[in-house]
Amino acid sequence: MTPPPRLILATRNAHKTAEIRAMIGGRFEVLDVTSFPECPEIAETGTTFLENARLKALGISRLLGGRVLSDDSGLEVDALGGAPGVGSSSYGGREGDHARNNARLLEEMRGVTDRRARFRCTMVLAAGGRELAHFSGTVEGRIIDEARGALGFGYDPLFIPDGYAATFAELGEDVKNTLSHRSRALAQAVAWLEQAT
Ligand code: IMP
Repeated sequence: MTPPPRLILATRNAHKTAEIRAMIGGRFEVLDVTSFPECPEIAETGTTFLENARLKALGISRLLGGRVLSDDSGLEVDALGGAPGVGSSSYGGREGDHARNNARLLEEMRGVTDRRARFRCTMVLAAGGRELAHFSGTVEGRIIDEARGALGFGYDPLFIPDGYAATFAELGEDVKNTLSHRSRALAQAVAWLEQAT
């Protein structure tokens, strides 16, 4: 039996890797850059999800052989003019500190009646430092006024997707992976990969 094709994720975020592996693990051998200690940290200096996703996919695929997929994602809140947006991972002041990010979001949203928000994910597929394609997915929902649930990561305890009464952190991975921004972008990436191989 031929082994599944390899797909390297340009991320060190174990939560993203776990979600993507759960969604496509059987069809691809999914690794992330933690398996390649020679890969440097890529500075996310872009002003859009697409720019940052490009920086990560092109930067890593210049160093490693094979196909590389990046994920740049975040939360956009209408009442905050689209913030935290590309600054989602450091909204609370410290990169990757989800507790601080959530605390700041709750603070900014105190007393705000328009709770509309969405998660957005942009993925770039690259090989040899060249972009092959990019994909985007969103999931609409609303921000609640106190954290609920212990599953998932990031802003999941504060976000209720449209059509549900529970947060992503209460719904858990199985449900989240059927409707999330990441699953929607990934479905397009997988379709692209399958028609290309
Ligand atoms: P990135 O690593 O620069 O793409 O930043 C992603 C950040 O957006 C994370 O650190 C979270 O704060 C937020 N985020 C992205 N996707 C999700 C998700 O699926 N659930 C909750 N928060 C997310």
